[in-house]
Amino acid sequence: MHIVCLDLEGVLVPEIWIEFAARTGIPELRRTTRDEPDYDKLMRYRLAILAGNDLGLPDVQKVIAEMGPLPGAREFVDALRESYQLIILSDTFYEFARPLMRQLGWPTLFCHSLETDRRGMLVDYHLRLPDQKREAVRRLKELRFMVVAAGDSYNDTAMLSEAHAGILFRPPANVAEQFPQFPVTQSYDDLRARIDQAFAACRSR
Ligand SMILES: [Mg+2]
Repeated sequence: MHIVCLDLEGVLVPEIWIEFAARTGIPELRRTTRDEPDYDKLMRYRLAILAGNDLGLPDVQKVIAEMGPLPGAREFVDALRESYQLIILSDTFYEFARPLMRQLGWPTLFCHSLETDRRGMLVDYHLRLPDQKREAVRRLKELRFMVVAAGDSYNDTAMLSEAHAGILFRPPANVAEQFPQFPVTQSYDDLRARIDQAFAACRSR
């Protein structure tokens, strides 16, 4: 029984906040955890900016739908799901991911959620579980699944370590340098080959 756990942003779809900032011309939304390490502060700042620009959830979803998945992502996901079960483990929010999940053929997604008021304005966010990427992989292993995980960034490294095999996909140079134990892939063909190899190695162990 094999499960592939994939990160979403940077692997199958663009970085949502960065791309959203570019498309709406709101540069303040480019702020990331690198600029503001306090995640709660960062999220409240982002929600306040959306409200200040009178952008409710339907407006945000419209912009996100136009981003689309990364080129080749849909084909990669479809082919992967013929061989393995796929779970996307992401730190994004269901409400943001939804327009992109439609374009990816509705794969299973575990992430966080947003709260809206009656006007559709975003008023709060709810983390489903702290450290959910690692926790999900740990529980899947308890259910006796073989797990191969792939992601692009720091917030994926705990899940990559927890999985039977972890693979980096188009990581920033500093992440690749700090985590030399994970192979680095740059294309979907490359990533698919590494996933197949990792499961084959698990089987022969
Ligand atoms: Mg990512």
